[in-house]
Amino acid sequence: MNKQSTLARFKRIAWKPLVTDQEGRQDGSKFSGMPWLNGTEEWPRCPNCHKHLQLFLQLNLYDLPTVLLGEFGDGIIQLFYCTSQDPHCEVECEAFFPFAKSVVVRLIPKENKPSVVAIPAIEDLLPPRSIIGWQENYDYPNWEEGNSLGIEMDEIEWEQLSDEGFPGSGDKLGGWPHWIQGVEYPDCPDCGDRMRLVFQIDSNDNLPIEFGDVGCGHITQCETHKERLAFGWACG
Ligand SMILES: [Zn+2]
Ligand SMILES: [Zn+2]
Repeated sequence: MNKQSTLARFKRIAWKPLVTDQEGRQDGSKFSGMPWLNGTEEWPRCPNCHKHLQLFLQLNLYDLPTVLLGEFGDGIIQLFYCTSQDPHCEVECEAFFPFAKSVVVRLIPKENKPSVVAIPAIEDLLPPRSIIGWQENYDYPNWEEGNSLGIEMDEIEWEQLSDEGFPGSGDKLGGWPHWIQGVEYPDCPDCGDRMRLVFQIDSNDNLPIEFGDVGCGHITQCETHKERLAFGWACG
């Protein structure tokens, strides 16, 4: 089998978010800005430093590309992350590992009314970016993940694929993870199944932040237990 037909089975679509530098609807998909909080909920805080967490990403699951509607559940996925430097919660809580306590990643239903809260005074508050559309790209796995899936290609072919920009770096919905270290899908705490990629958040793309030394982060989810989400990142 040649490389093309071997790989074709593993071709996925990754969607690059198209953004504007504006605060969008409260229930809209966005980086930073004002999250949707149901009822009387207050802005989430870090249990380590008790400061407010930063909203990194909100995904309105009704706003996704058509083929993904229902794929990740119903409602809104949110990622909040503690960016406190003093104490340095990222290090103290090992926020690079999935299920760290200074990170909230969750799927919430969208109830009728949001709670009326203002964006709190967070140090180094990230600028809001509203996601207004999705650009479709092809994506392929990296050599290590490819090998584990039984894709038979030699080292040169994998290098070519990597030189062509696969798997894609940068922020993206779906596709294949751009792993910096090894393949690091967490297991679902409920059923033990390997979780799958929802969204990749890269350093210095839509969020002006760096995960360690230009690391790359991934929101993952159990396909069966859609409320089980995780966020982890790795750097070189
Ligand atoms: Zn904290
Ligand atoms: Zn599960």
